[in-house]
Parts: sequence; structure tokens; C-alpha cells
Amino acid sequence: MKPVNFDYARPGEVSGALKLIADEGLTVKIVAGSQSLGPMLNMRLVQPDLLVDITGIEELRRFDERPDEIEFGACITHADIEDLRIPDVTCGALPSVARGIAYRAVRNRGTVGGSLTHADPSADWHSIMAALGAKVVLRGPAGERTIPVEDYMLGALEADLGPGEMLVSIKVPKLSRSARWGYYKSCRKTGEFAHAIGAFLADPDRGVIRVVIGATESRPIVITDAGNIIGDGRAERLDAAFDSHAVSEVIEAAGMTNPIDKQTHIVALGRALEQAQSA
Ligand SMILES: Cc1cc2nc3c(=O)[nH]c(=O)nc-3n(C[C@H](O)[C@H](O)[C@H](O)COP(=O)(O)OP(=O)(O)OC[C@H]3O[C@@H](n4cnc5c(N)ncnc54)[C@H](O)[C@@H]3O)c2cc1C
Repeated sequence: MKPVNFDYARPGEVSGALKLIADEGLTVKIVAGSQSLGPMLNMRLVQPDLLVDITGIEELRRFDERPDEIEFGACITHADIEDLRIPDVTCGALPSVARGIAYRAVRNRGTVGGSLTHADPSADWHSIMAALGAKVVLRGPAGERTIPVEDYMLGALEADLGPGEMLVSIKVPKLSRSARWGYYKSCRKTGEFAHAIGAFLADPDRGVIRVVIGATESRPIVITDAGNIIGDGRAERLDAAFDSHAVSEVIEAAGMTNPIDKQTHIVALGRALEQAQSA
């Protein structure tokens, strides 16, 4: 199938894009890398009057490194992160996850902002960013707001984006030297979408122990105070402290009751812990 006819605009500033998406008389869609939107247009699942291409906006391709975090624009691609064009402040976590997304052609075009907004539960960025404690910055008619990544996905293919709002940047905290992270994506072939994700961050110097169970049918399950599951994060082998019964209870409480799904997700988290990486 072919998309419906639509108009196309490529503003050079965020303010120009916001003006265009504020038009309530038209169906307006933002396009970034088009890796998810493209197929939806072709299948006519989305039928816009106007496509607003945001990839020409310089502000969305910039990064700003501060003492405690890095903030980078929504149009930074998976390949930008893989190739370290964005400095890595995560002891290798983000570049490693980027390398496992699809194949290079997709990574060259697909953007972090597009992936987070598309809100596919199987996507990688939601899970690792939630484990790292990242936040998204949204700008719209009422100004700017910053929310945790885990609150941005409301459910499958649904992001917390108000009318006329767009995602402008992502803030990722810098990990301390004692930090360890793990990410395990269960999929049949390298680069495929996951059917289970386990991710964690143990950063005892900052008092952070977070666990994420992703690729559920909806938003990832995020445990922000995971001390009862993996201890205080200082043990040499984090998998030795792993309490799979506690994880099982959390998963069930989140509504995942199918025993095979549950077990696949518990195993994914166990493998993430086995593969704990440090700075
Ligand atoms: C073959 C294939 C395999 C893939 N495998 C994986 C995988 O293993 N793991 C994975 O995580 N992903 C995978 N993806 C998805 C890929 O990562 C996409 O790049 C990503 O989902 C969408 O990013 P995009 O920049 O292409 O967004 P687009 O397709 O351009 O947009 C997606 C949605 O986000 C909206 N949008 C985009 N940017 C903004 C913004 N700044 N503000 C507000 N709204 C915005 C658009 O309106 C649209 O609704 C795969 C894709 C393909 C085609």
C-alpha cells in the first residue's frame, strides 16, 4: 500500500515545529527517523494532512555535558550513541544497548526521541533509560516539563504527550565509579525486537539500585528501590544475591501471570545480573 497524500514541512527551529503541530484543524504528525512511522504510513494506520520533519533542527542534534548528567537532543540516532558521537557517561551501557538495536541501516536513521515516543513495549531504550534513571524533556504550548522516562510510556504505543507537545531532549545521569549495570535482551536473532528484557543499575555511591523488567505487553516494570532483590549493590556477584521469588511477585502484581512469560522475564533479569559490567 502507499501512504495517503500529505504536505511536508522541515522547520529549522523547535519553535517552528511547535507552531506547525499546534494546528488543530489538521492531522499533523512529527517524523524523525521514520523507521516506525514509515511502515505505519504505508499501511495507512496513520493518515496525516501534514508531516513535520524535525531532523533539520540543530537543537535536537546537540548535547550538553554537565557535572552530573548529559542532556542530548531527541534526534540523536542510535548510531550516534553506538559510535560515541555522544560522550558515554554510562560506563558503556548506552553504546552497548545501541549496538543491539536492529541493524546498522535502522540505527543510522532511528532516533532515541522517536523510539521513546513510539512507545513499543519491546523497544530497548525505554528499559535501559529507565534503569539508568533518565528523564525526558517535553516542550509545548504550556512551556517545558521534565518527567522520568518510565512515566513517559503510558502503555503500548502510547506516550504522555499533550496536544501540541514534542519531546526535545533526554537527560541521562552520570554513573559513579562504583556503578555496575546489566542489560539482557532475549530475542531469537541478534538485533531483533526483544520478547523479554532484564536491566539493572547498581550505583551504591549514589544510593541507586534500580531493576527493570521490559518487553512486557505494556510499559516496563520499574523497581526504583531494588535492594530486596539484588542487595545493596556492593556484593562481588550480584546474581548471588538475586531473589527470583521477590521478582516473581512484582511481575505478577503488574499483571503478568502466564508462567512462561514470567519465567522468561525472570531469566532475562538473572542473565543481566550475571553479566554485570563495571566502569
Ligand atoms: C527492521 C526494524 C527493526 C527494529 N528493531 C528494533 C529493536 O531491536 N529495538 C528497538 O528498540 N527498536 C527497533 N526498531 C525501531 C527503531 O529503533 C526506530 O528507530 C524507532 O522505534 C523510532 O524512531 P524514529 O526516529 O524512526 O521515529 P519515527 O518513526 O520517525 O517516529 C515514531 C513516532 O514518534 C513520533 N515522534 C518522533 N520523534 C518525536 C519527537 N521528538 N517528539 C514527539 N513525537 C515524536 C512520531 O510522530 C511517530 O509517532 C526497529 C525498526 C525496524 C524498522
